[in-house]
Amino acid sequence: MSANLLLGKPIQDQLLEEVAAATNEIIEAGERPPHLTAVLVGDDPASAIYVRTKTNKCSEVGFGSEGIILPEATTTEEILEVVDRLNKDDNVDGILVQLPLPSHCDTKTVLDAVDPAKDVDCFHPHNTGLLMQGRPRFAPATPAGIIELLEREGLDISGKHAVIIGRSDIVGKPMAMLLLHRHATVTICHSRTPDLPAVCREADILVAAVGVPGLVSQDYVKPGAVVIDVGINRVADRDQAAEIMGVAANWERFDERGYLVVGDVRPDVAEVAGAMTPVPGGVGPLTIGMLLVNTLAAARTRRGVGA
Ligand code: NAD
Repeated sequence: MSANLLLGKPIQDQLLEEVAAATNEIIEAGERPPHLTAVLVGDDPASAIYVRTKTNKCSEVGFGSEGIILPEATTTEEILEVVDRLNKDDNVDGILVQLPLPSHCDTKTVLDAVDPAKDVDCFHPHNTGLLMQGRPRFAPATPAGIIELLEREGLDISGKHAVIIGRSDIVGKPMAMLLLHRHATVTICHSRTPDLPAVCREADILVAAVGVPGLVSQDYVKPGAVVIDVGINRVADRDQAAEIMGVAANWERFDERGYLVVGDVRPDVAEVAGAMTPVPGGVGPLTIGMLLVNTLAAARTRRGVGA
């Protein structure tokens, strides 16, 4: 048996097409298109690539966008000043603060300062509260993208047992809420869950959002389960990459970059699962797609355009 591979790119293409059509309508109605501003602090190359990808995708769907790049030494107060200016700028519909911020910055204070109406990442406590109550203004992009994937692939959620590994505010907890609101029975696991493989084997839908390369092996998976791998881990140790990836390792890419991007789930889980997302190419593209969906929603709600 080999799992049906669930690819993110075709769903991202659908989402972008829908957002571009809605943006076109807004422009044709004589309004300006939605605008996303991303704030990047420091020079982490991976974060810079994420921000560039997001602003490029904005251009593809006809959004306005801007990336504000601040030096590594920027203080929390200075970031708050930028956020305050963006909150007050009526031309900005969505604000995204790229994480992680440098360690000297107070991330919670910065995220709490973003106007909830422009908080397209859905990190503000006001928005997480609404999400918890099942009436989200926005849903965090990665878990919302996973729901889109499941629904558009015709995979049932209602009545299924969903097990999530990871309880972060960004992925694990909101994923649990979104699945719960679609009538799954939800178990959240974390670093102190005893006998993790046994709990995971109960899952009809298993979501791994841990950040531990190759944690989930075949003995975590019930035959036929849907396995969603959120993990994005860089593995620079050749032996570790070989041990996790087996024949799926792309050595050409390893030699080119000096690392492989590896998920939390081992590729040979495909021999047990009914369907699973690959890394890369699974969940990643959905996150960007849903960020654009949220920015469109922010523009519609704030300005009453194109509704
Ligand atoms: P996090 O570090 O905030 O949370 C990780 C969670 O995993 C914690 O709740 C912790 O309790 C749990 N955990 C850690 N070790 C464990 C273990 N051995 N067993 C069981 N649970 C364990 O991470 P995050 O922000 O939720 O991200 C998780 C992964 O998803 C990372 O690899 C990250 O890069 C990736 N990610 C991908 C996307 C995407 O778009 N695909 C988006 C966000 C995060």
